[in-house]
Amino acid sequence: MRKLRIAIVGAGIGGPTSALFLARQGHSVEIFERVATPGPVGAGILLQPIGQTILNRLGILEQLQARGAPVPKLTGQTVAGRTVLDFNYNVLGAQQHGLGIHRGVLFETLWHALQAAGVKTRTDADITAILDRDTQPTLQTATNTHFGPFDLVIAADGANSQLRNTLDIPVYNKPYPYGALWFIAEDPEQRLPLGLHQTFNGTRQMLGVMSTGLGPEPGTVPLVSMFWSIATNSLTALHAAGLDAWKAQVRQLRPDLDFILAQISDLEQLTFANYYDVVMPRWHQGNVVLIGDAAHAMSPQLGMGANIALVDATILSNCIAEFDTVPSALAAYTARRKPHLRYYQFASRWLTPIFQSNYSWIGPPRDLVFNTVGKLPFFKQQMAGTLAGTKAGILRKIEV
Ligand SMILES: Cc1cc2nc3c(=O)[nH]c(=O)nc-3n(C[C@H](O)[C@H](O)[C@H](O)COP(=O)(O)OP(=O)(O)OC[C@H]3O[C@@H](n4cnc5c(N)ncnc54)[C@H](O)[C@@H]3O)c2cc1C
Repeated sequence: MRKLRIAIVGAGIGGPTSALFLARQGHSVEIFERVATPGPVGAGILLQPIGQTILNRLGILEQLQARGAPVPKLTGQTVAGRTVLDFNYNVLGAQQHGLGIHRGVLFETLWHALQAAGVKTRTDADITAILDRDTQPTLQTATNTHFGPFDLVIAADGANSQLRNTLDIPVYNKPYPYGALWFIAEDPEQRLPLGLHQTFNGTRQMLGVMSTGLGPEPGTVPLVSMFWSIATNSLTALHAAGLDAWKAQVRQLRPDLDFILAQISDLEQLTFANYYDVVMPRWHQGNVVLIGDAAHAMSPQLGMGANIALVDATILSNCIAEFDTVPSALAAYTARRKPHLRYYQFASRWLTPIFQSNYSWIGPPRDLVFNTVGKLPFFKQQMAGTLAGTKAGILRKIEV
């Protein structure tokens, strides 16, 4: 492909990763971010093996490992102590593990890599429309400023993408009834073991804690992320009942987390995140392509969203390198991404209600059989492949 002028909207995870791969190919890349002063904020993220492979290729995995925490196991128990989930990454290979990381560390590391790679970054740029999509696209901001023209626009503006709705591609966007309140706590004495541990009380209550490493520079204290699953329509009631009532519920699930609860003096310290199931028949139109959550937001039940955004960025840059024109590269991108994305959307859609929903009847049979079934060789293999991040069907997997 000739050298392109590329605009990327959104400096979350998919945007900067695409920028780095495409800048390496010699394209002129400019990234536009709505936030005026992007900073290292956010929840804990679990980087699966596929995400780690991609970050290693970008040359930043070692930096991330230095500030993250290995996650050797994913475990889950009922309040009564029955094991529901017990997955050890070593089934994927002796050295394999997840990497728990503060989202801010990932942001900060990608952001520094962008500067080093000579990618132009433009902040405080709220892009609301992409004009002339079929020829030489330009970007329009909320204040009617225009940028461009470009040869290619990559929209990576997240789950609440505005740009998705401006394209002529049908969008199915269904919010999940449950979301999560999350909090990042200090665990200086490392009381909690490394890993992601979840506690279930039926399907309506779920509490997760995950080792998250040291957080952004200059953090030196080990952190843990805590997730409290909650129906979106129960948020008002939770706030009305107050902090102590919520802490009592947490203690019922995990009596040993008082050291975390002591760090929360106001419910406002908990950040709420809701989830969407976004499905589109294709992700490109003319010289514009959608990647990451903008293209296919899903529930974080499988801990895959960030990893999948990294895969999108990798495969998009492969297509740009391989094909002679932007439209042919984008058509190949949609075709190549379909099996993998459809698999993870399907798996998230079916697994989420098993753990977070108002279907209380699912809880008892889940608690009874989920772990036993998960230990059967076929299901164990399916689960391992799913968490590795490479599955594109029961027998199919992708390479990045
Ligand atoms: C509570 C929670 C826990 C999660 N845990 C995990 C996990 O463990 N593992 C995992 O893999 N994934 C996890 N995810 C999902 C993961 O965070 C997302 O899938 C991932 O961030 C998607 O990356 P992205 O680049 O597509 O979008 P984002 O990271 O959302 O970035 C979008 C960027 O676009 C910018 N933007 C938006 N609109 C505009 C505009 N109009 N103009 C310019 N810029 C704009 C935003 O400011 C933002 O910087 C979790 C999500 C949540 C909510």
